[in-house]
Amino acid sequence: MPIPESSIVAGQVYNLSPLVRRITAPNGGRMTGPGTNTYLVGHEEVAVIDPGPLIDSHVEAILAAAEGRIRWVIVTHTHPDHSPAARAIIDATGARAIGCLLHPDDGHQDTTFVVDHDVTHGETIVGAEFTLEAIFTPGHIGNHFCYFLHEEHLLFAGDHIMEGVSVIIIPPTGDLKDFLDSLALLRQYPLSAIAPAHGHLLNDPDYEISKLIKHRQYREQKVISAMKALGEASLDRLLPLVYDDVDPELHKVARFSLWAHLLKLERECRAVKTIASHWAFGEEQWVLRDGVPSLRESDL
Ligand SMILES: [Zn+2]
Repeated sequence: MPIPESSIVAGQVYNLSPLVRRITAPNGGRMTGPGTNTYLVGHEEVAVIDPGPLIDSHVEAILAAAEGRIRWVIVTHTHPDHSPAARAIIDATGARAIGCLLHPDDGHQDTTFVVDHDVTHGETIVGAEFTLEAIFTPGHIGNHFCYFLHEEHLLFAGDHIMEGVSVIIIPPTGDLKDFLDSLALLRQYPLSAIAPAHGHLLNDPDYEISKLIKHRQYREQKVISAMKALGEASLDRLLPLVYDDVDPELHKVARFSLWAHLLKLERECRAVKTIASHWAFGEEQWVLRDGVPSLRESDL
């Protein structure tokens, strides 16, 4: 069972549970919270989940804690704050790289990550003391996997569920419907706690999943209200209305999630995309279809 914890200090080895240690990288920021969490699973044979950014002190901390016992380096996905340290750890230990690459690269990927084993949904990684099960969870990005630790019912959630940092949906492979479907899938596992890639251990998985669904319902309602107010409108015109409760400095990344909301509405035949306009020739415009149905939970 995971034990309670207090604050996160980058570089410190934190014993999260009997089988799991956490070392947070010194890359804290607005998008990464206290920094990327790297998890070490097992003691006799170690699996490193999300090695994090390539920062010498972080790699050294991981290697020192694992004492030469790293056998697997696993990535939840290949964003630059998650996988670049893999190569240095693998070169030092001979561990196998497990993950899934995004094809084609969407321009947001860590292209240094080379996979030794292309993971698939339901596959298990079995160590001397543990079994980790891969769960395919697209949504944030199209190649995202979570990992479920059977012995402790702990979920390594990567960027699918985070503490204190909004999950950004990054089209075109990131997809809001996929994100919500993946949350529903995670509910089918007997989770005791969630170990996110950013933030503290989350001890109430059902609450966290419900919170994320409610947040997306809230944001979708704001998208619909803004579209009703503006009529035909571009992403950039919708952005300040839909995210008027978010610091404008974050609008650049929020724009991805807004795009994902519009694509979901389009897929549900609730909005249409049009090109061309008298005032912004060639720019994509979005408009609600007539008779948009009211928001129902079953739609989400
Ligand atoms: Zn990410």
